[in-house]
Amino acid sequence: MSLNPPDLRPDLAPKMRLDAPRPGQPTIGMVSLGCPKALVDSERILTRLRAEGYAISPDYGGADAVIVNTCGFLDSAKAESLDAIGEALTENGRVIVTGCLGAEPEYITGAHPRVLAVTGPHQYEQVLDAVHAAVPPSPDPFIDLLPASGVSLTPRHFSYLKISEGCNHRCKFCIIPDMRGRLVSRPAHAIVREAEKLVANGVRELLVISQDTSAYGADIRFAEERGHRAHIDDLARDLGQLGAWVRLHYVYPYPRVRNLIPLMAEGLVLPYLDIPFQHAHPDTLKRMARPSAQTETLAEIAAWREICPDITLRSTFIVGYPGETEAEFQYLLDWMDAAQLDRVGCFQYENVAGARSNDLPGHVPEEVKQERWERFMAKAQAISEAKLAAKVGTRQDVIVDDIDADGIATCRTKADAPEIDGNLFIDEGTEGLAVGDIVTVEVDEAGEYDLWGRLPA
Ligand code: SF4
Repeated sequence: MSLNPPDLRPDLAPKMRLDAPRPGQPTIGMVSLGCPKALVDSERILTRLRAEGYAISPDYGGADAVIVNTCGFLDSAKAESLDAIGEALTENGRVIVTGCLGAEPEYITGAHPRVLAVTGPHQYEQVLDAVHAAVPPSPDPFIDLLPASGVSLTPRHFSYLKISEGCNHRCKFCIIPDMRGRLVSRPAHAIVREAEKLVANGVRELLVISQDTSAYGADIRFAEERGHRAHIDDLARDLGQLGAWVRLHYVYPYPRVRNLIPLMAEGLVLPYLDIPFQHAHPDTLKRMARPSAQTETLAEIAAWREICPDITLRSTFIVGYPGETEAEFQYLLDWMDAAQLDRVGCFQYENVAGARSNDLPGHVPEEVKQERWERFMAKAQAISEAKLAAKVGTRQDVIVDDIDADGIATCRTKADAPEIDGNLFIDEGTEGLAVGDIVTVEVDEAGEYDLWGRLPA
């Protein structure tokens, strides 16, 4: 794959250490030919595949299949594309062809009948379908960054942006450090460059993902290269200047998170923090070996809200963790009353093969876990409902995700991440709207998790 010059292919450059596959992880290789626009397509496909849990191989031998993104602009480019397909077939044997030359499928299959699939330029969905068919994803709810439904295709107006892989912590319930290894951060300039191309290609919202977004850059000593420093504060600021919505996921509750909040108040990144607290009681957090066990989170939350009153806080929790007493659980409920989080997910603890928490004493009976989960969710839902009700009568910026045949627009406010949070629906007057538009809406109704609104007259 010498066709990918390192400075043009950040995903495949030799020093790229991301995506070292774990045993059994589905792995894809990519050969990208042609113009910068084709390169954007390649990056977009790789970004999506990485987010779905695929590893990216820098060589033919390590890949379960190879995507060849072709160019068909000149005869010489066509010949080069055919050669590249031939080389990939010889070296790997399982080849998916996409790109400009894919517009002439017979030309390709005439020369190389063994290719698995041929898709045309900018047909991300079809390429991903072909990859899923050739090398099925192996979703793992314990380590994947996207919910299972996330294997459905990302609409073109938002895109995941993976900034690092792995984690340096050792939370006892989590096997990510064993599966994905220690933190490996991408160079900041490669991330910014990928983001610039996504935005130039129509992406309106960038969803920053990693296992530990606040730790970004720590493994490479927050190195500055080509004008971009690998620190989350700097990266968030750099991404915030691209003109798209920037949403930060998996931000761990370290005290330094406070430095990100002014960027939200300034409007550079969305006033939205996806911050997994997992529990509130210090003893439970200690038994979990959470990095944030000592952090005074309620005081931190108050400080964040002082700096950015509009901030939306999303978090996840585990109830029924080994040793969790009724008093610890009640402490968590009281903490929720005080914290008033906007969006909350909650899991009942379960053993995961290889997790150190399996061996802890005091496993909580299933019926107790269930009962605690119900009490927790009832509280979380009441808080969410009250928070949404308070939005009735306000004006909110929304991004349009879908418009159905009846003209009902499914949108999201800045407080809603795709696939995990709620929606805002517009029932009428949507004729002038298109998917990806960002418009201002008057909220006129609220439910438990969703809003309804109308376009101002
Ligand atoms: S911080 Fe803890 S829960 Fe998160 S990935 Fe690292 S070890 Fe797992």
